[in-house]
Amino acid sequence: MSDEFKGGCQCGDVTYTVSEAPLWVGHCQCTNCQKFSGAPHATNMVVHRAFLDVKGSMSIYEYGADSGNQMKRHFCGKCGSPIYGESSGNEALVVIRVGSLDEPGGVTPSTVIYTDSAVHWDDMDSDLITFSGMIKR
Ligand SMILES: [Zn+2]
Ligand SMILES: [Zn+2]
Repeated sequence: MSDEFKGGCQCGDVTYTVSEAPLWVGHCQCTNCQKFSGAPHATNMVVHRAFLDVKGSMSIYEYGADSGNQMKRHFCGKCGSPIYGESSGNEALVVIRVGSLDEPGGVTPSTVIYTDSAVHWDDMDSDLITFSGMIKR
């Protein structure tokens, strides 16, 4: 995979550059991802915060996750496009919404998480590694 990715929101007020290859790319079928994406899953990629450079101002929605961590979702306050999320559990990392990339096809998902809350018609590639909830290490 490439080590530079550009993206932004639908209206163009927010743009960003990621300057490292993602540490992880995968689909998440949790109910929070379903709500904010308006789709049966969100496709996410994890990168170090230090390699994310955002231009433009975003709105933030904060909530408590099942894990006890505080989560923050950053999105364009004008057009509502989700850009990235972060967790108090690991402040060095951010979770970019792959649909906000200018070329989402430039990254390749490896995993599906939270399959317990999958919508039955959300068919996934059977080659992907699956977890019923969060990834267990
Ligand atoms: Zn926007
Ligand atoms: Zn999720």
